[in-house]
Amino acid sequence: MKKSQSAPSMEPENPSGGEVLHPTQKFPQGLFAETVRQAPIAIAITDSKANIVYVNKAFTEITGYAPNESIGCNQSMLSDRRTPRKVYEELWSKLEEQIPWQGLLLNRHHDGHPYLADLTIAPILNLQGETTHYIGMHRDITEVYQLQQQVVDQKLLIETVVDSMPVATLLLDEADCIVLDNQAYKKMDSDLGLREPSKMFMQILREEMGKEWDILKEKNLGFRNREVRYDRGGRHGPRWFSCSGTWFSRDSGGVDAFFKQTSRTYLLLTLDDVTQQKKNEGEIRFNALKALMAEEEKIQSLRETLLGAMHHIQGPINLLNAAKTLLERRGEERQNPALLDILEQILAAGEESLDRLKQCIPETDEIASSMVNLNQILHECIVLLTQRLLAAGVVIDWQPTPILPSIMGQENLLRAMFKHVMENAIDAMNQSGVQKRELRISTWPDEETVHVCIEDTGPGIPENLHVKVFEPFFSTKSGGGRRHSGMGLTMVQEVINQHLGLIRFDPTYRQGCRVHIQLQTHAQQNSGKRPYAYG
Ligand code: FAD
Repeated sequence: MKKSQSAPSMEPENPSGGEVLHPTQKFPQGLFAETVRQAPIAIAITDSKANIVYVNKAFTEITGYAPNESIGCNQSMLSDRRTPRKVYEELWSKLEEQIPWQGLLLNRHHDGHPYLADLTIAPILNLQGETTHYIGMHRDITEVYQLQQQVVDQKLLIETVVDSMPVATLLLDEADCIVLDNQAYKKMDSDLGLREPSKMFMQILREEMGKEWDILKEKNLGFRNREVRYDRGGRHGPRWFSCSGTWFSRDSGGVDAFFKQTSRTYLLLTLDDVTQQKKNEGEIRFNALKALMAEEEKIQSLRETLLGAMHHIQGPINLLNAAKTLLERRGEERQNPALLDILEQILAAGEESLDRLKQCIPETDEIASSMVNLNQILHECIVLLTQRLLAAGVVIDWQPTPILPSIMGQENLLRAMFKHVMENAIDAMNQSGVQKRELRISTWPDEETVHVCIEDTGPGIPENLHVKVFEPFFSTKSGGGRRHSGMGLTMVQEVINQHLGLIRFDPTYRQGCRVHIQLQTHAQQNSGKRPYAYG
């Protein structure tokens, strides 16, 4: 290290640097020198070859080199020798162009420990515009850097942990924008055939939770295990997700909040795919359901038989009643008391038989209404009818709307009702001469109504019978595999009425038969009115 000649005078010739001072202000002697000396940043002035000619107090504090150990030495004495050559090349190329350079260098302290220097070097020019000196100013930013690294490391760690979680996890800001998500969530995009599944989940959860959502959010609380069913339709089975969320607030990281704290609310949402679990539960439920439906069908069949018998007895009784009235109206001389007596006895016996039959009709149990997802009910009916569909060679085209609002209703009645409509469709197609056998079932919501459409490719029902088919004991079918009492559609109509819904056969449909059923969503049912009417 070669020593420099002499340190330049620290008093500027023109202390105002060309700036005009106020006439009353006299620039104090030695102020510039004192300013540099006392500045709380390491300052070194070098010649044009980077040989140090001056260092201030902070330089000694930061580098550990006293003035007598540094003056005359080259700035390279501070190099830790691990800073890449490229950095120095860039530094000198800028300085040669007389452009200040700013960057980070790895320096070595006098005691040997490395530190990170945030350095700015600026050339000092003479009147001819030549670089005579350089001024270097640096700060030790090791601690800040280490803290920054810690933050980066922690973020990486968090991201790795979140990423490796098997449950889809995402962090959403107040505008429902994703701040953080994991691999399991990204995989859902393709799995569900949706671009941004979070939007759908947020919409459903908001709708289902209503006011509760806002209350929980306001209190920075959360919700647990809210189940969401998603029906993609076609060959895809239903998917189930158990959703949990936790709201929390964090101070805003923007500069606006540097002095005045403002906070932002985030939602940590987890979407646990519980489809397999639901499938297992579904199988158990399905077997129980099959047994239950078989039992209900037996009871229904008994009811229909008894009602049919009553219907057939009622006809002759009506005739006998008419005959009795006729006899009674005759004049006394033409009356036949013996005949009247017999008629009365027959009528009394008939009425008694009717009464007995009536008492034998099994009563239907009143079951409390509950929230019902029609997609689920229809899917269950399809599964229950799988054997029959296969036997009849019927292709199912299942087109549910992925997310359907729930309705309030009696699950068992609704299931039996839809199953009956589907059975009618299968029967209609399972006839010789019907080439195309396709059963299309679709669902869609419309404001406060849930629509279900069941279309078949059978011969259809003539338009003049569209209303008559709902009458008791009316049937368009004579034989076939099933017993046809003509009470099925009457039962269907009854269930629809109980749920304040509507059913009709679409008169414009020509490819077969289209049954259109409308049921009110839970919200609309509460209002107790039918919002729609057919012409
Ligand atoms: P080289 O880069 O190989 O250079 C060899 C010598 O020539 C060095 O003395 C260098 O200063 C000088 N030199 C190289 N290119 C030119 C050029 N184009 N014009 C004039 N002289 C040149 N380095 C640090 O590691 N830490 C610091 O804190 C630091 N502070 C500096 C402050 C100032 C004001 C200046 C001007 C430079 C500073 N440097 C610093 C850069 C330093 O001078 C060296 O370039 C660097 O340390 C690389 O060391 P080296 O031995 O590999 O030298």
